[in-house]
Amino acid sequence: MSTPQALASLRDRLAPSERMPLVFLGHGSPMNAIEDTEYSRSWSELGRTLPRPSAILVVSAHWMTKGTTLVDVSAMPRTIHDFYGFPEALYKESYPAPGDPDLAREVVTLLASHHAEEDDTWGLDHGAWTVLKFLYPGADVPVFQVSIDMTRGLDYQLEIGRALSALRDRGVLILGSGNVVHNLRAVQWGQNSKPHDFALEFDRLFADKLTDRDFAALADREGLGNLLRMAHPSVDHYMPALTIAGASDAGDDLTYMTDTIDLASISMRSFVFHAR
Ligand code: ZN
Repeated sequence: MSTPQALASLRDRLAPSERMPLVFLGHGSPMNAIEDTEYSRSWSELGRTLPRPSAILVVSAHWMTKGTTLVDVSAMPRTIHDFYGFPEALYKESYPAPGDPDLAREVVTLLASHHAEEDDTWGLDHGAWTVLKFLYPGADVPVFQVSIDMTRGLDYQLEIGRALSALRDRGVLILGSGNVVHNLRAVQWGQNSKPHDFALEFDRLFADKLTDRDFAALADREGLGNLLRMAHPSVDHYMPALTIAGASDAGDDLTYMTDTIDLASISMRSFVFHAR
């Protein structure tokens, strides 16, 4: 299914539910923030399709911490330009949405058993703002990030998702931003670069297991073995997909928005869980 078709079908099937959908977006290159691409167009369309959230909690691949799960409690999160060697225009971008200190502090309490702590130094990294810019161009929905504790196993992010899932009933959009396959060493430049076999294979495996709700398989580092190491030399871009899976429940439907592989080794696969 093409992305526009998938979004049209999502719009038809979104039940009028109090429970907010969950979104995972493959963010890919920061250039998506200033280029008109199929991805940026799909993010705009998705923003028009989803119910308007009361706040957005973002788990981005670009905020990694060690030994703690940090929650940004700042009132006005700054826009972080955490990339190098890109055109000047990208460094001029900003996303001036307010934070949500009260809700963020509640999340610290919610994740107390996951060594959560308050932080007021981070802000919005490019995993967050390059997609939010299209989802909510008015920057008028409060937003804050939660970090990924990279000292933990994959199943830890499933647990974090489960712990956060109650927020869905309060109108909070939980947004994961990473990539289902992300191997920068294997990137091949050029418009028509053919996806690597390992990229296609991992992307397919991920989609099959997610569709089957076999999250344990997705968090089984040993079972995924070499294929996981090829798809993710470091798992930072994989973790947010697990957070979103963990926040879903048996009453959710799953819609895939995008399933293309960019530059041979970056999967742009994106998905939405939504109450039936
Ligand atoms: Zn990234």
